[in-house]
Amino acid sequence: MIRLYCASGNPGKLREFRLAAGNAPVEIELAPHFKQLEPCVEDGQTFEANAILKARHYGQHVAGPLFADDSGLEVDALNGAPGVHSARFSGPNSTDESNNRLLLEKLRNVTGRTARFVCAIALVEAGVLRGVWRGAVEGAILHEPRGDGGFGYDPLFFCPQLSCTFGEAGASEKFAVSHRGQALRAMLAALIPG
Ligand code: IMP
Repeated sequence: MIRLYCASGNPGKLREFRLAAGNAPVEIELAPHFKQLEPCVEDGQTFEANAILKARHYGQHVAGPLFADDSGLEVDALNGAPGVHSARFSGPNSTDESNNRLLLEKLRNVTGRTARFVCAIALVEAGVLRGVWRGAVEGAILHEPRGDGGFGYDPLFFCPQLSCTFGEAGASEKFAVSHRGQALRAMLAALIPG
């Protein structure tokens, strides 16, 4: 059994990562004392750069492998925004509601509403970067939210593969196709032989 520490304060993400542990011989634990650690400055320009910054920053505090992810929503009509700024799209006191409201405002009267969720995961052990994995899932932003599952932009993100929003999908349904699911499975495939 491999123990992987996860550096995330987002309970929605941690829940999704743990789903991946299904049959794989891994245990995913929140990094010890995560909430008391000095927060990482996430000033990278890409999801990969931020995932590496976070993994290196929080990895110093644990013995054993630690992974961190950076993820967000890229909307084509907004030239890829909110992108790496997805969590704070509507300002320093952003909430999921305020972010979703702003997104709908910016897309008012916009007909081309294609978008994708992207996730990069970086894994660090003993100060060494062991890899970075990326996942992406294509979809479109609806005109109003549907469903109250998931977190963040999920209720506005229509996923053609599931024929519903991520807010309407069950957690394992979402994880089977999601950006985070893809990146996590790629990491596990690299770590677990066979
Ligand atoms: P991070 O914690 O810096 O990776 O910020 C990710 C932000 O992107 C979240 O706070 C959400 O706003 C958004 N996001 C990332 N993944 C998802 C997802 O699976 N569903 C909905 N929103 C997401």
